[in-house]
Amino acid sequence: MTAEQPALHQQFDDPIYRRPYRASPTRLLTYLDCPRRYRFAYLDRPTPTKVPPRAHTVVGVVVHNVLRDFWDLAPGQRTPDAVARSLAAAWSDVGFRDPAHSATWRSRITQEVVEYLRGIDRDIQPRGVERSVNLPVGRALLTGRIDRIDDRGGELVIVDYKTSRKPLDDSAARVSLPLAFYAAAVSRLFRARCVTVELHHVPTGEVIAHEHTDESLDRKLAEADSIVADLIDVDQSYEQQGAASTAFPPRPGPLCRWCDFREHCPEGQAAGPAALPWEGLEPTSA
Ligand code: SF4
Repeated sequence: MTAEQPALHQQFDDPIYRRPYRASPTRLLTYLDCPRRYRFAYLDRPTPTKVPPRAHTVVGVVVHNVLRDFWDLAPGQRTPDAVARSLAAAWSDVGFRDPAHSATWRSRITQEVVEYLRGIDRDIQPRGVERSVNLPVGRALLTGRIDRIDDRGGELVIVDYKTSRKPLDDSAARVSLPLAFYAAAVSRLFRARCVTVELHHVPTGEVIAHEHTDESLDRKLAEADSIVADLIDVDQSYEQQGAASTAFPPRPGPLCRWCDFREHCPEGQAAGPAALPWEGLEPTSA
């Protein structure tokens, strides 16, 4: 950054950045993971068929919805029974081995969500729940939705729920591009200090936190800006050449077992057998 150039999170004031590329952090990270998958998900139309939802995806969606709706209850109604009712209403058997398997997991997840909520202050209403935000960053308008924004003594804290069965890495909050974007976007939206980001692992209640500095936030936004520059190029390549473009090589690896688009990708199929629909909850040696 030169002395004359505004910081990336301040460039929305600069007229030369007024035709932004709209993108979510997920779009950016999908491209980094696998350019072919990015093409399937964001450029090919109609979108290629995806595999049906897997059990761990269903669990993730249900838990997020229950934790969202929890804050709509009056404080006196925020009880374990209310959580169990909300979870039962949102539950789906899709992706589970059979109804008994689904019922076992519904009971287990209900317990985990109740325990997680026991570990937080349920009387303090968050500043935001599933709050949509956006932030101009260089050539892009980044958009996203934040699980929860806590107000802790006037300081705003980003909370992102995680439902994977795997424990979180200690560095996960520090290196997360979406969390840094959320913090910068919330600072701008509420004109309040927001530098702390937290990952809340619902199955265990573990919290992985990181406190950003202005410099570390700007580094993350510069990373986003750099990925956007690549996306602008590859999108243009797709516009000109369609699926014949060489800008979307497959990147086979462990992710291919879980890829929604693997049936369209011979290289990904060669990387290993598809994961079983419930394998994200109960790993097998398949
Ligand atoms: S199967 Fe693997 S290589 Fe193919 S699109 Fe999916 S992630 Fe990429």
